[in-house]
This record gives sequence, structure tokens and C-alpha cells, in this order.
Amino acid sequence: MKYAWMDEALCAQVDPGLFFSEGHRNTSRKALRICGTCPVQPECAAFAAAVEGDLTAKYRHGAWGGKSVQQRALEGGASRVDDRDEQIIRMTDRGLTPATIAAQLGISDRTVGRVRKAYQQQQEAAA
Ligand code: SF4
Repeated sequence: MKYAWMDEALCAQVDPGLFFSEGHRNTSRKALRICGTCPVQPECAAFAAAVEGDLTAKYRHGAWGGKSVQQRALEGGASRVDDRDEQIIRMTDRGLTPATIAAQLGISDRTVGRVRKAYQQQQEAAA
């Protein structure tokens, strides 16, 4: 699918090889510099995040949206952690025990306890 903002993509005006440097894992600094001046970088970064989702670094390639493979993979991981923490809070609000939550999400009791404690402290601070 092609979006209108793609007409302004600076990467379409240079050698595509710059964006997929040797081994596909080592993002070219030159490519990231080009992204840094690209007028559609915000749109591109949002598109990249939507397309790549939660992929690990192994399955990501090249510079995209002004970010390296590692930068994008870290951001994807952070959103997974946020989603997990929200799930823990929702299950807590439904009255499930930490052991049940841990078992259902396949994580440790300790992680559940840490998230619940942080949430409780947030609630107390906001009260
Ligand atoms: S931000 Fe980078 S990858 Fe995205 S359109 Fe611009 S130059 Fe291309």
C-alpha cells in the first residue's frame, strides 16, 4: 500500500543500499542522517511501528523511520512490557490473585507483585 506522504520520502531519492547495510543488521549512519532531515519522518516512524509490531531485532532490517534495528526492537519490547503491566492491573481489578495472574500470563509471581506494588503506590500518590 502506498500513502501520500511516501512521495516525500528522502530514502526514495538515494541509493536504497544505504538503508540496508552489510548483514542487514548494521544500520548505516548515513541512512539515519538522511532520516533526520526527512520531512515525513514522523509518519514513516509510525508506519514502521505498525508494520513491524513486536518483532525481535532478528526479524527487522535496516534503517527505517529514523531508527536503527536495535532502537525499533527496544521500543517494540517496551510496548510489550506496558501491555503486560496493563493486563496485570486489569486482572488485579477483577480480583484475581497474584498466583493466578502469574500462571495465566506465564510470568513470575515476583513480576506480578512488583507491578501491583508500583500501581498501588501510584494510586496512593494520586489520592
Ligand atoms: S524517515 Fe527515513 S526511512 Fe522514513 S521515509 Fe524518511 S528517509 Fe525514508
